[in-house]
Amino acid sequence: MDFHCHLDLYPDAKNLYAETVRRRLFVWLVTTSPKAYEATSRVLPQTELVRISPGIHPEVIGQKASELPLLLEQIDRCELVGEVGLDGSPRYSALFSLQQNVFDATVRRCTEVGGRVLSIHSRAAAREVLEVLEGSPGFGTAVLHWFTDSPTQLARAVKLGCWFSVGPAMFSSANGRKLAKAMPRDRVVAESDGPFAKVDGVPVPPWEALDAAAGLAKAWSISVESARAQLVSNGEQLIKKMSKLRLDH
Ligand code: MN
Repeated sequence: MDFHCHLDLYPDAKNLYAETVRRRLFVWLVTTSPKAYEATSRVLPQTELVRISPGIHPEVIGQKASELPLLLEQIDRCELVGEVGLDGSPRYSALFSLQQNVFDATVRRCTEVGGRVLSIHSRAAAREVLEVLEGSPGFGTAVLHWFTDSPTQLARAVKLGCWFSVGPAMFSSANGRKLAKAMPRDRVVAESDGPFAKVDGVPVPPWEALDAAAGLAKAWSISVESARAQLVSNGEQLIKKMSKLRLDH
């Protein structure tokens, strides 16, 4: 199971896709723009197990904000939305208000259509992400991907009902380990965030997302097997939420 993967952006995407199908893995393939969603959906068939979602990544907002109307239209017909969110790090902060306009419109549309499951980026902007979510009740289910903010914002996200997708790379930082420890155990799922997330310099493939169990086992003081079983059972619950939204395509 891999709840946040940029499968289309690995150099050998087609082989990787074939391998995930062969292994019968569940993969949530998040795209970074509405046009990328359309292109990827044409090349890599969407199946029960490989789910592809439209988004606008905050890091490319300058080039992609004009595709917002297309994203809003795609949200009408897609149960899953992502990657969306905000990035407050210095490199992207010049366009922060544009990011906010786009993310706000995206979340509002999710509310208007009765709720969606969203994979959300919140680097250096968790407070602002949560403000948008709090301002649009009924948006659905938020899965905060690779959450790296403070324990205060984590507590706020938990209160709001957020889920968290966690990958093996998260445990290489002390803050990542501390946050993982404080996450509600029944709302954590596995992610690779490949090919961007790397372990020992190598992009994490989707079938290694569940290796996050090793880090979670330490954080939660349980066995690796128990952590893995917990991730699988949580993943099944989240897939059920997605299935309840099943739209007629
Ligand atoms: Mn990502």
